[in-house]
Amino acid sequence: MSITSATRLLVLLGDPVSHSLSPLMHNGWIADHGLDAVYVALRLESANPTETIRALKALDIAGANITVPHKEAAARAADVCDGIVANTLHWGVNGVVSAFNTDGPGFLDALSEAAPNWAGQVRRVLIIGAGGAALAIGKGLSPRVDTVCFINRTLARAQAAAESLGNGQHLRWEAMERGFADADLIVQATTLGLAGAPAPAWPVAHCRASTIVADIVYRPLQTELLRVARARGLTAMDGLGMLIHQGARAFEIWFGVRPDAATARARLLAALAS
Ligand code: NAP
Repeated sequence: MSITSATRLLVLLGDPVSHSLSPLMHNGWIADHGLDAVYVALRLESANPTETIRALKALDIAGANITVPHKEAAARAADVCDGIVANTLHWGVNGVVSAFNTDGPGFLDALSEAAPNWAGQVRRVLIIGAGGAALAIGKGLSPRVDTVCFINRTLARAQAAAESLGNGQHLRWEAMERGFADADLIVQATTLGLAGAPAPAWPVAHCRASTIVADIVYRPLQTELLRVARARGLTAMDGLGMLIHQGARAFEIWFGVRPDAATARARLLAALAS
C-alpha cells in the first residue's frame, strides 16, 4: 500500500513506545482489510498530556491507542468516557472524542479463548497487582464472579482497587500462599516476570488442580509463573492473548470490523522470536 494525502492516521501514544508490538499488529490488520490507513507509535513526553491529547482534535487523526503513563490523561482529554482510564480514542465525524478501555474486555476475550469453560468454574479471582491493567481486568471480571481479590506490594493500592468493585477484597503481599490456595483464577498483572525483572518463587504448589493461571506479561511469553503452572499441569494463559484482543476491540471501534486474532498471534510470535 502507498501512503498518500488520503491515508488515515492512527497513533499509539505513550512513554516509552519503542518496544511496542502494536504497530506490527495494527498495520498487519490494516493490510489484511485493504484499508488506506497507517498506525505509528509516538513517544509523548509532555508536562500536560491531557492538553496535548486534546490538541490532536485539530489534526484529523482517525484514532489512537494510549499506553503507560497517559491512560488517565486520555480519559480526561475525551468528550465522552465511561471510566477514569482509557486506552483507545476515537475521533467521531462530529468532532466528538470518545474514550474506551478495551483492556478488561480484551482480557476476557483472551481468557475465553485459553479456557473456554472458565465462566462455569471461576468463582474466586486473585489479581496480583493493583495498577492500571489490574484495575481494568478486575472491572471486567467483577460482574461475572463471586469475589475479586487484589494482592499488591503496596497494600493501600490493593485496598483502593478492592473498594472500587462491589465484590472486591484485598490481601497483604505476605498472604500470597493463602491467595493462591483460595483462587479459581489467578491473574498476574504486575511487572514481575518481565525480561530482566525479578521473578519471585510463586506458591503454585498451593493451587488446586483446577486453578487457571494467567500472566499478562508477554516478554517473555513463558514467564516463571506460567512455567511452574504448566509444570503442575494447570491451565495457563500468556499475555499475548490480552494484547491481541484489546487491540482487536480498538480496531473494531475505529474501522467497524473485528480483525482476526490468530493471524495477529502468528505475526507477533514471529516478531518475539526474532
Ligand atoms: P502500573 O499501573 O505501573 O502497575 C504496576 C504494578 O506492578 C503495580 O501493582 C506495582 O505494585 C507492581 N510492581 C512493580 N514492581 C514490583 C515489584 N518489584 N514487586 C511487586 N510488585 C511490583 O502498570 P500496568 O499498566 O498495570 O502494567 C502492569 C504489567 O502488565 C506490565 O508488565 C505491562 O507490560 C503488562 N500489561 C500487559 C498488557 C497486555 O495486553 N498483555 C496490557 C497492559 C499491561 P505497587 O503498587 O506496589 O507499585
